[in-house]
Amino acid sequence: MNETPSDASEFQSIYQMLERGLRSVGEARLFMSLLLEHLPELIAVIDTNGRVLFASKAHARLAEVSDHVEEIIRVDQLFPHDVQAAITALSPAAPLATESFDISLKHKDGSRHCYHFLKFHLQMYEQSVIFLLGLCTGERAVGEINLHSYKSMVNHLAFNDAVTGIANRNLFYDRLHKSLSLAKRNSGHFALMLIDLDKFSTLNAKFGRDVGDRFLQHVAQQLITAVRDTDTVARMSGDEFIVILDNIKKAKDIQSVAEKLLDSAARSLYVEGREISCTASMGISLFPKDGDTADELLRNADKAMYKAKAAGKNQHRFFIKAMTDSAVNYLLLENDLRKALEGNELQLFFQPQVFIADGGLCGVEALCRWQHKNRGLLSPAHFISLAEETGIIETLGGWVLNESCRIFKSWLDRGVDLGKLSVNVSARQFRNAGFQQSVLAILERTGLPHKRLELELTESSTMENAGHTLEVLNELHAAGVSIALDDFGTGYSSLSYLRRFPIGKLKIDKSFISNVDRDPRDAVTAKSIIDLAHNMSLHVIAEGVERQEQLDWLQGKGCEQVQGFYYAKPLAEKNFLKLIYDTEKAVLEGARVRLKCSR
Ligand code: C2E
Ligand code: CA
Ligand code: CA
Repeated sequence: MNETPSDASEFQSIYQMLERGLRSVGEARLFMSLLLEHLPELIAVIDTNGRVLFASKAHARLAEVSDHVEEIIRVDQLFPHDVQAAITALSPAAPLATESFDISLKHKDGSRHCYHFLKFHLQMYEQSVIFLLGLCTGERAVGEINLHSYKSMVNHLAFNDAVTGIANRNLFYDRLHKSLSLAKRNSGHFALMLIDLDKFSTLNAKFGRDVGDRFLQHVAQQLITAVRDTDTVARMSGDEFIVILDNIKKAKDIQSVAEKLLDSAARSLYVEGREISCTASMGISLFPKDGDTADELLRNADKAMYKAKAAGKNQHRFFIKAMTDSAVNYLLLENDLRKALEGNELQLFFQPQVFIADGGLCGVEALCRWQHKNRGLLSPAHFISLAEETGIIETLGGWVLNESCRIFKSWLDRGVDLGKLSVNVSARQFRNAGFQQSVLAILERTGLPHKRLELELTESSTMENAGHTLEVLNELHAAGVSIALDDFGTGYSSLSYLRRFPIGKLKIDKSFISNVDRDPRDAVTAKSIIDLAHNMSLHVIAEGVERQEQLDWLQGKGCEQVQGFYYAKPLAEKNFLKLIYDTEKAVLEGARVRLKCSR
């Protein structure tokens, strides 16, 4: 019933293994099977239908059963009729509830012996099994120590995966419940990372199951070494592993662990000179953002994993709500967006920024649009967050910057002065190593003078990693590029950082402007942002100005610049040029452009 070493030389090698200490999961398994074969105690694993999944050799020696591997033994072959029901009955307090009882068993030679049985009921792979451990009493005393070591052996079998030796599904659930209750109690955060090997079945078919198993052991060890001791790595099934990252402090940490784990899983194994390797895909869900039950977190990690596979494998994906709303649509949109970038479906619109005093243009903000083949013109609300979450933003952001600089330079070359070009930069784009170099390279390529470019960053992306921000901003500032803080007032800014960062302008978020002349709370916020900007010698601009009353209020409070539908909506390149050359709407004074109110 077990694979055990059969001849003296194998015993010899096991002896040597033990002498120097067990070094691998394979060695531990070999030793465990040897133990099970030679223990005089009765050990059996039985499912709830009475099918014996495992019986130690001692059963075969004592009862009338064969020890052939192929043979399926039933519980009535191992135990007398009157105790069978008690043996297969499930205890209500599973898992790992222990019961004990005595049974009198007849040996092959007709003699009767009393056995003290310990019964553990366990849930494995959603099915119940019963572990039975029978110790013969009367002939030998059974000490507590013995019981304890048996229990831990049974525990090991029940909670560790047979192939890799790492935590199995049972132990994973147990740990997940612990992580959940701990995080709930301490308002903590943890991540669940579901890892699935890409094309493992091909590897199995090509090299055989033995090599497949060795590869799984190798992956398990790689994953374990890549995380902290306190994190859990478990094998869920086949080629699926799961990691619980406890006690997360920063989102960025998860990202780097995810990358490290995928690198580790993809590391090659060499078997008899052959290189065996296989990449992996990962789906990540976060507590509490993506669910507050074990099931929900797992389901969402699974959805994200499916997306990582669909996006080309060998990558990780964080779960995002949109995946549940319409997973299929979302996937389609993501594929479309990748193609849109290649197929010139993205466009830039431009919106003027105006000095209140005389309507003169101080700048132009570039805003992205997507001309979707079936859905028409999509606003950034439909795709910027998708692009952020999928990483497409890095390519998209590069395209926006390059294209807007190119167009703005062509306007300058026509002899019109539109002030500065403002370009939105997403948090993820800004975090990228080498961001500042890529900006400078684009300026170089398009020939746009550095002082003409203003980057719009949000408060949150600048405050995220202040050290990094300071370095990048200083470098850009030194090169002549300006920085504006977008949507100001909606996030959290530390005053001391505001002072240290080389910021030139605050953009008051439009949520405070829409009722600034009617709602005293918005008025207080807007006024304090204007005062803050003045105290720090920064420019200040109000977004979302649609009415004369808003404009009057802002002017009265000393705000110098505005942007909004009152002057112009964002316009495609052609329409933007039309506006500034339209003598009804604009005045050209030399190179300078002044907008008359367009209403
Ligand atoms: P934002 O940077 O705050 O841009 C201003 C938004 O306010 C624009 O929306 C603009 O059309 C809208 N807006 C301007 N004036 C008014 C007004 O008077 N009333 C109202 N109700 N709205 C006004 P849009 O173009 O839909 O862009 C939405 C957001 O998408 C932008 O907000 C920005 O965060 C993001 N976005 C747009 N283009 C890009 C891009 O190229 N890269 C990145 N990373 N984000 C972008
Ligand atoms: Ca903006
Ligand atoms: Ca804004």
